[in-house]
Amino acid sequence: MIVMKFGGTSVGDAAAVKRLIDIVKSRLSKSPVVVVSAVSKATDTLHSIAVLAASGELPQAKKLISELKSRHVKMCAELIRENSDRYISLTGKLSEYFSELTDIVKGVNLLSELSDRSLAKIITFGELLSSSIINEALNESGVKCNFVDARDFMYTDSNYLKGEPDTELIKEKTPEVINKSRKGFDAVITQGFISNNRDNVTTSLGRGGSDYSASLIGMAIGAKEIEIWTDVDGVHTADPRKVQNTKSVSIMTFEEAAELAYFGAKVLHPSTIQPAVEKNIPVRILNSMSPESPGTLVVREDKTKNEGVRSISCKENITVLNIFSTKMLNSYGFLHNLFEVFDKHHTSVDLITTSEVNVSLTLDNDEHLDDIVNDISVFSKVSVNRDKSLVCIVGKDLKNTRGLAKRIFLAAGDYNITMISQGASAINISFVVERSDLNNVLQRLHDEFFETNTQK
Ligand code: ADP
Ligand code: ASP
Ligand code: MG
Repeated sequence: MIVMKFGGTSVGDAAAVKRLIDIVKSRLSKSPVVVVSAVSKATDTLHSIAVLAASGELPQAKKLISELKSRHVKMCAELIRENSDRYISLTGKLSEYFSELTDIVKGVNLLSELSDRSLAKIITFGELLSSSIINEALNESGVKCNFVDARDFMYTDSNYLKGEPDTELIKEKTPEVINKSRKGFDAVITQGFISNNRDNVTTSLGRGGSDYSASLIGMAIGAKEIEIWTDVDGVHTADPRKVQNTKSVSIMTFEEAAELAYFGAKVLHPSTIQPAVEKNIPVRILNSMSPESPGTLVVREDKTKNEGVRSISCKENITVLNIFSTKMLNSYGFLHNLFEVFDKHHTSVDLITTSEVNVSLTLDNDEHLDDIVNDISVFSKVSVNRDKSLVCIVGKDLKNTRGLAKRIFLAAGDYNITMISQGASAINISFVVERSDLNNVLQRLHDEFFETNTQK
């Protein structure tokens, strides 16, 4: 068995779904479990619908619901013979989803209150809609495909918007459900992103979480490979939307891919790699618009001789906290007290640098920033710097590559660089720059390490 996950742009319209069908057909001998995201931008739209309803703008919310419905019905009409039994039952199912969505949205509006629980329910409709359409489109094209609701096996805790997977239950339920569903079928289709808690209340795995769904399913069923089909031909040497002349990286290790994803490479959800590592399942990132391109293979060990920098990632919008404690000198409880604050507010820290009396650290998520600053202020002075970006250079054995630091800092030498950190692992060097300098710094670094025409 293999898992094939298709992201938003890979299911964005009827033409994309037709490409998906051809790709799935080419893999039928491998018993695929197809995992799909919502059609591109649908999750954002659902989010806006929820927020509009809660803030009293029900007509506007309803307008967006009706546009979303038209988009999905149009896809049905382009993929399935109109007025056939299949078309009638599919559009009937979509209407049921949309009337349920409308009821929930009206409830949110009446109460003027949007809980995480209601929001999770609303934003996960996108995957239910797309998977229903694609399932029928696959069957219409001759692929015997069975539809499975991911909530039959994908369990999380009750953190509704970013559920922590209940790995034990997922490992128990997924093979049971998938093996039963694939009997007599060529393929099984299910949703990414959506999950539920043990009380069967809908949760989600967090934005971009369909990649994570795919790797959790892959781990639970012991898949031979996890294919992530997206809109670029694999992991590139940098984000192709920010940097010119990027190239696809043919192979990388789990560790490198995890590091890149963690430090901002959107092509993979940060948690995707971890379940694959557990069962040593290769992950392949492929381009649904160019299925023949080899993409990127992510494996435990890279036996090629590709040394040095592999890719450059970034987090465009981070917050830097500078914490000053006059008491820090010889005071061993300080870091403990400091990190207790982040623990209390469920906020993770990316980079940290320390001096005797000063700690600087970067946060990706500033949701609880005010509370964090208040709590730290009890025992230290703290200043907040926004509009910063984090750059992360990942590659094989960077720690032992002589002259690397010189190349990095010469290339980015015209810009102010702070919080330089040779990561705890041997494979990453990170630092902070002004957000306004980010694209220039990325391009300079990329030119330095990947522009083959330039004489170094
Ligand atoms: P999907 O909807 O298929 O999950 P995403 O938009 O989440 O797709 O991820 C694909 C995007 O990730 C690409 O279009 C690209 O802009 C971005 N990206 C960021 N860093 C990289 C990188 N190093 N290599 C490839 N793509 C990257
Ligand atoms: N549809 C969800 C999102 O946009 C999950 C995903 O695409 O991975 O965040
Ligand atoms: Mg994604």
